[in-house]
Amino acid sequence: MTIFKADKKFERFEDVTPEILKKENVKLLLCDLDNTLRLHSEKEPAEELRKWIKACKKAGVKIAIVSNNGRKKMMLEFCEPIDVPCVWWAWKPRSTKLTEAMKEHGVKPAETVMLGDKWTTDVLAAHFAGVRAWKVEHRKYIV
Ligand SMILES: [Mg+2]
Repeated sequence: MTIFKADKKFERFEDVTPEILKKENVKLLLCDLDNTLRLHSEKEPAEELRKWIKACKKAGVKIAIVSNNGRKKMMLEFCEPIDVPCVWWAWKPRSTKLTEAMKEHGVKPAETVMLGDKWTTDVLAAHFAGVRAWKVEHRKYIV
C-alpha cells in the first residue's frame, strides 16, 4: 500500500454495496461528503443516497461523515434526515477526526474504510489513520 494510492476504486458510492462491505469486513464506513455522497450544490440527500445509507445500516455497517466542509448548519441539516453522525472542519489529510470516529464507534482501523473522492485529503487521511482508502470519482462529472 503506498500512501498516495487508493486501495479500491469505484465509480460512485452506490457501487460500494452492502455485500462488498461485508466481504471486506467493514464495520465502520467513514464518508467524505462533497462530490462523494452528494454534488457540492445538493441541499438535501438524494433518494439514492437515502436508500444506500439504509441498505448499509441494515447490513450492520456504521456510517459517519467526515468532511472538510466548515458549514456546520448545512452539514447538520443534510445529515439529520439520513440519521448519520457528521464531523465538519475535519482538516483531512489530518487523521485526528478519523481516529476519534473509530474510538467513538468502538471499531479498529482494520474494520474501517474511508470513502472519498480526493487522494490529497481522503486517501491520505485514511492511510495516516491506518485505515483502507476507497476512492470514488468526482460526482460532478456524473449527473
Ligand atoms: Mg470531496
